[in-house]
Amino acid sequence: MSAETSTKFTSVYGPVKSWRYGRSLGIDPIGPVSVCSFNCVYCQLGEIERKICDRAIYIPTTQILQDLQAFAPWDVDVITLSGSGEPTLALNLAEILSSIKQLTHRPTLVLTNATLLSDPDVRAALSLTDKISVKLDAISAEQLRRVNRPVSGIEMSDICTNIKNFRQEYRGHLGIQTMILTKWNEATKAEYLQMMQSLLPDEIQLNTPTRPKPLKHEIDGRENHSSADNRPYEVRSLKCVSLDVLQEFATEINRATGIPVRYAPIG
Ligand code: SF4
Repeated sequence: MSAETSTKFTSVYGPVKSWRYGRSLGIDPIGPVSVCSFNCVYCQLGEIERKICDRAIYIPTTQILQDLQAFAPWDVDVITLSGSGEPTLALNLAEILSSIKQLTHRPTLVLTNATLLSDPDVRAALSLTDKISVKLDAISAEQLRRVNRPVSGIEMSDICTNIKNFRQEYRGHLGIQTMILTKWNEATKAEYLQMMQSLLPDEIQLNTPTRPKPLKHEIDGRENHSSADNRPYEVRSLKCVSLDVLQEFATEINRATGIPVRYAPIG
């Protein structure tokens, strides 16, 4: 990392207004270089710079705690671990979660793409968070390849099994977040409904990516943007569906499963 990048980087950002979780303070356990096991076509960080599945300590817990001090007394609804990639890749995830709790006494949330849920250490770390939002944008291998563009070796069937197993043991609030880029056909919807019926998450969150994507990695992609107008870098518009399509699918899911469904464009 360049000296310029490292001096600009702070592991705590926001607070941002989350449509799902209220006023949220962001924690970035990944750092100035984006790292993820996916490279989603809609990722607000831009193209992922390091596409890997290996866990490592990217930001020391002491640095996160130090950065957090500047935000005391943490007048937020939740402290969210997401940031510049997949937070479960941080080997110090458990330590970060327990230290944040000890320091702030605020509820914590982890946003994850579920690709590391087969790792018992990751599951043990996630048991420490109050809430989890698990990304599930695909039901078929082809959809996974097209939308999430995972690193090689990540299979759709493993993701589904891992989420199901994790659901059995996790005691906190589990949301499933699904990004819809194009209207799903009936067969895909039926498979998704079946999966939700067996999973029974506490909530389902449907989105569509109305917010344009930066062409390359931009650190402020960690935060919410209400529009592309004032962003000082190049962005491109993404395929998305109308609010009516989201609403229709939300109603269908709720009727079939009884699970509360929320929907909103990411704009
Ligand atoms: S999982 Fe999240 S961080 Fe990773 S590429 Fe997808 S949207 Fe970006």
